[in-house]
Amino acid sequence: MFDFEKVRTLLAIVALDLAMFPPAGDAADNLGVLGEHPRWRILEHYQETITHDDFTRLIQNAYCTHGFAPDLIEINEKTAQILMNRDSQRYFTLRFPENEASLNPAPRLWRPAKSLPPATHGKPLSGLRIALDPGHLGGKWAKMEERWFQVGKNPAVKEGDLTLRVARLLARRLRKSGARVSFVRDSNEPITPKRPDDFKELARKILVKNGVPHPRLDVLDPNDPEKEETIRWQSEILFYRYSEIRRRAALVNFKLHPDLVLCLHFNAEPWGDPNNPTLVDTDHLHLLVNGSYLQEELELDDERFEMIRRLLSRAYDEELPLADTIAGAMARETGLPPYEYPTTNITTKVGTTGYVYARNLLATRLYRCPVVYCEPYVMNSKDVFARIQAGDYEGTRNVNGLERKSIFREYADSLVDGLVDYYSKARK
Ligand SMILES: [Zn+2]
Repeated sequence: MFDFEKVRTLLAIVALDLAMFPPAGDAADNLGVLGEHPRWRILEHYQETITHDDFTRLIQNAYCTHGFAPDLIEINEKTAQILMNRDSQRYFTLRFPENEASLNPAPRLWRPAKSLPPATHGKPLSGLRIALDPGHLGGKWAKMEERWFQVGKNPAVKEGDLTLRVARLLARRLRKSGARVSFVRDSNEPITPKRPDDFKELARKILVKNGVPHPRLDVLDPNDPEKEETIRWQSEILFYRYSEIRRRAALVNFKLHPDLVLCLHFNAEPWGDPNNPTLVDTDHLHLLVNGSYLQEELELDDERFEMIRRLLSRAYDEELPLADTIAGAMARETGLPPYEYPTTNITTKVGTTGYVYARNLLATRLYRCPVVYCEPYVMNSKDVFARIQAGDYEGTRNVNGLERKSIFREYADSLVDGLVDYYSKARK
């Protein structure tokens, strides 16, 4: 993924009050793109499930590391007051327990490692429900997603196809270790029934609100400097990112009910013209967990609600040590250095390995269970490009002067090793 592009788009879209879906109540909800009305009453189930100190720690170290407007969350000794809606000045009161002994269990559908039954012999992942989310769509959608480039006459590189390939190899390995594996996507077609044309009107409204009073309909070509100000580009991103990921979240949350989601991606550095891409020497690895909300994201009622629900589900206490352990295994087996974000404006380094960041992505926020989002390999690095062209194979081969496993198997194997490491220790 191109981080800067993603962030710029996100900010362009969310940094304003998009009151385009009339709310049921009196005061207008301040929602993100295609956001759902927050159901604050659900949080009643989390009363007295977290201590004042744990709540404060998670707010400060994981979720709100960039600060927030003072009226959004007020932490007192016995309660936290969380703003539901600024217009109506309504607050949700979260009560902390009197003491540790009166702590209620947090309701959740996923199981942390320590509450899984003991592993059966030789099957360290037995009974664990894992959903695999191969990032993007690939296939005929890859160009639209801007996850496509081609060097000369070589087969084009499509991130969505690569991640699906890894997911299939991974599923076999995880099942061998006893896991119950499901796919969030198992083809290169979207799971949302919507298509870009369904979002033309919304795309126009977003652009007008963003100060483009007469948006152009079409993109001229992939290098069009004003493509993001066209109805075509905006309606496409509403389709393949916002609508698709929200649909995937519904599948995860209402049907699959996994204990863990693994989001599989390949990273990239800016490649310029996709038909004449820049190949670079740098290669790196990082993993993401949900957190590090931007101030402007916390202003949105739905994102603030989803952040608080996620915090209260305690997913972070599971996904952070898990991500750290997976990062250790992937770093060891790929030999990749940690990616360093050029700024600290959007992410926060967490954990102990140097490879894990907190960041508020749609998938890591919306999937209601621990989520580990993997970003190994720079697709347009010379080395990775050669390994992708070499395809999948057994054993090792000489690629760019080094004996290497197939990149797909190295990805899958190192991820499984990290999971086995974590669950073998955490289940005991
Ligand atoms: Zn990606």
